[in-house]
Amino acid sequence: MIIFKSINKLKKKVNIKANVGFVPTMGSLHKGHIALIKKSKQKCNKTLVSIFVNPSQFNKSADYIKYPRNLNKDLKILKKLKVDYVLVPSIKDIYKTKEQMKIKIKNEDKILCSKFRPGHFEGVLGVISVFLKNIKAKYMFLGNKDFQQIFLIKKYLGNKFGTKIINCKTIRFKNLLAYSSRNNLLSKKNIKNGILISGIIKKFHKQISRNFSKIKEIENIKYKISGICSRVEYLEIRNKNNLKTNINKNNFKIFVAYYFGTVRLIDNF
Ligand code: AMP
Repeated sequence: MIIFKSINKLKKKVNIKANVGFVPTMGSLHKGHIALIKKSKQKCNKTLVSIFVNPSQFNKSADYIKYPRNLNKDLKILKKLKVDYVLVPSIKDIYKTKEQMKIKIKNEDKILCSKFRPGHFEGVLGVISVFLKNIKAKYMFLGNKDFQQIFLIKKYLGNKFGTKIINCKTIRFKNLLAYSSRNNLLSKKNIKNGILISGIIKKFHKQISRNFSKIKEIENIKYKISGICSRVEYLEIRNKNNLKTNINKNNFKIFVAYYFGTVRLIDNF
């Protein structure tokens, strides 16, 4: 496993024509990340994982500061998985390149997380554009847990850099809670309530699939969830193909963002 601390060093060493699979992460690796890495290893000759807590995608600096970081543990995990390349760039390294595309999110996309975290996706698209421009990976593996993120990366970056995006399913604990680096910031009680919330939404999804008129219950469900977390930021049902509100029983997806104290969690079912 070769660890690169700068994109330039990586560019010199890695043959960009090789069949490289890229897994961008912010570290504090868990089974969700590991599933993406395993997918890449199956599909590609070489796998590159980046670990970069990208300041420009945090709309609150306190959230950036407290974001969990475990670099040594992460490197051990990656070594065990026999990952070929790891990129751990500095903030300076990413931002000095001036290669970031200044992408403005259109008003029509200011929904869900984009509505509540102004600047977040501009930050995500900016850093992903620097990575893809330089790495020219054949595939990039992303998790459906961040469903809107995949949607916007596909919409705004598309095939500009010749990298194909592979959506990977959300990995959950048996109790349905999705793996997330932010789970490290939760108390046992919060975790228990997070499990309850996942169960409520999953059940709601099942009910709607059986009887579509159940979507009317959404405000009740939101109220129920509000009672077991600090605050529900949004609970919305949207079309999984275009994230619009033209839904039917075959295309709907439930999206949620909620808080325990200052810790914000998202999921979709
Ligand atoms: P992050 O480190 O949170 O920025 O996530 C890096 C990548 O891992 C993103 O593509 C996420 O969607 C993906 N990811 C995070 N959690 C999960 C999960 N529970 N299951 C599958 N993919 C995940």
